Amino acid sequence: MRFRGQYRFAEGVAKWQRVVEATVQREADVQATEQTIRQVVQEVLSQLTGRAPAAPAASARWGVFDNVDDAVAAAQQGFEQLSRASLEQRRTAIDIVKRICEEQAEELGRLEFEETKIGRLEHKIAKLKAIRTVPGVEFLRTDAVSGSHGLTVTEYAPFGVIGAITPVTHSLPTLAGNFVNMVAAGNTIVCNPHPSGARIASEGVRRFNRAIHAATGLENLVTIVGNPTIESAQQVFDHRGVKLLVVTGGPAVARAALRSPKRAIVAGPGNPPVVVDATADISNAAKSIVAGAAFDNNLLCIGEKEVFAVKEIFDQLMNAVSQHGGYRLNAAQTAAFSAIAFAPPKEQGGHYQLNRDFIGRDASWLAAQIGLAIPSETQILYGETDEHNPFVTEEQMMPFVPFVRTNCTDHAIALARKYEHGFGHTAIIHSRDVHTITKMARVMNTTLFVKNGPCMAGLGLGGEGYLSFSIATPTGEGVTSPLTFTRQRRCVMVEDLRII
Ligand code: NAD
Repeated sequence: MRFRGQYRFAEGVAKWQRVVEATVQREADVQATEQTIRQVVQEVLSQLTGRAPAAPAASARWGVFDNVDDAVAAAQQGFEQLSRASLEQRRTAIDIVKRICEEQAEELGRLEFEETKIGRLEHKIAKLKAIRTVPGVEFLRTDAVSGSHGLTVTEYAPFGVIGAITPVTHSLPTLAGNFVNMVAAGNTIVCNPHPSGARIASEGVRRFNRAIHAATGLENLVTIVGNPTIESAQQVFDHRGVKLLVVTGGPAVARAALRSPKRAIVAGPGNPPVVVDATADISNAAKSIVAGAAFDNNLLCIGEKEVFAVKEIFDQLMNAVSQHGGYRLNAAQTAAFSAIAFAPPKEQGGHYQLNRDFIGRDASWLAAQIGLAIPSETQILYGETDEHNPFVTEEQMMPFVPFVRTNCTDHAIALARKYEHGFGHTAIIHSRDVHTITKMARVMNTTLFVKNGPCMAGLGLGGEGYLSFSIATPTGEGVTSPLTFTRQRRCVMVEDLRII
């Protein structure tokens, strides 16, 4: 029960918070306006005098650069400033990024949706709002060992400038989440975004830097290549000023990063299988599968991509999925849809080619491609397939979920293992049998293993734990946090400083 005094106090705090935030925003706006006026005056003067306008100051770009060298140089200067700044200033910078993501989520989410044209607007917005749950400075710690020989302290220090490669599936959320983690640890960032999500990522960088500069005087804590290419990504990989690479993306970029001589933290692709056994709560399993696979039209790397369900409950599960927003395709429709969603492999034993026009589209749009008119609020399409259907074998990023009928639980787990392809990313089970759950956890050996819930629970959204949009899989760091982006430094005092 809360008392009236508590309400008043809470309201007072909220009001105060709003005033502070409005002031910070106003300062940022004033700063931006001054900058624009300066630029206009410079241009007018240059026209009058016939001289070319001077190159804009670093702050005029607010972190957006045309080439990698300039972006790295600015991030390096930002790092030097940040190294001299207090932990409170780091906290302020992170709070600003979280606040912008939360308060401007509708606008930024819409811009991301309009630019990338994939996923669902409400989930673009939700992902930005969730940045508030990404851990920051509070995650840092100091370890100490004290004994007869003195005191040894281990501190978690920054690397310097981190090169971040980000995906189109969550362009600004990945950048913002990386910012919170990496800057909390004292690093700055140079980002090479996916070309199809570069405008929104650059807009985020501009807004973050402008507001951070107004509040703290710090500049270029994150910089970005405004017109990125595969070549500029390679330049980031090779740049001497970049001390660590953090790559979030699919198989090609993950391979490129793993080949790089520089240390790389790789958040690579997945193909998360779901196993449903005969002991499962079928309604919860169906609801969870729909919620996870429908989220942002199955763009999440952790999203439910294929289901292996034992024959005893298979039909019951299929019926339950339609009660939670799924639209079931019959065998002919499933075959027709699979044939247009993928092109056959070019060579024997090769991969099916995903039709990229289908990625992240709404279930109703996908259904229309095979001549089906279904309600626009349909969450996912689904159908029974065999294990060789490309929706099972390939990482698809659209709201169609193939369901494969299995002979027994061991069969389901074996198929889950086979089609996760050893990515070590995410696997999900619905079961009440603790032995089955344990067996699958051991067999899969994935970074995330979710029991009896949707995939998002693995990132603290409905389950315990914290959020990151970069889940380091082949390199093993797991769900990244500020500590992922630190170097351990040991400081040893011999004999002295032990006080007990
Ligand atoms: P993508 O691999 O096409 O692009 C990712 C980034 O890598 C982009 O910035 C792109 O420009 C760059 N890139 C691509 N090929 C490259 C190359 N050869 N050299 C250098 N840079 C290259 O992936 P996407 O479509 O943007 O995102 C979806 C993929 O990312 C899926 O495979 C998904 O599983 C994965 N992903 C993984 C995580 C994770 O945390 N593990 C998170 C999000 C997405």
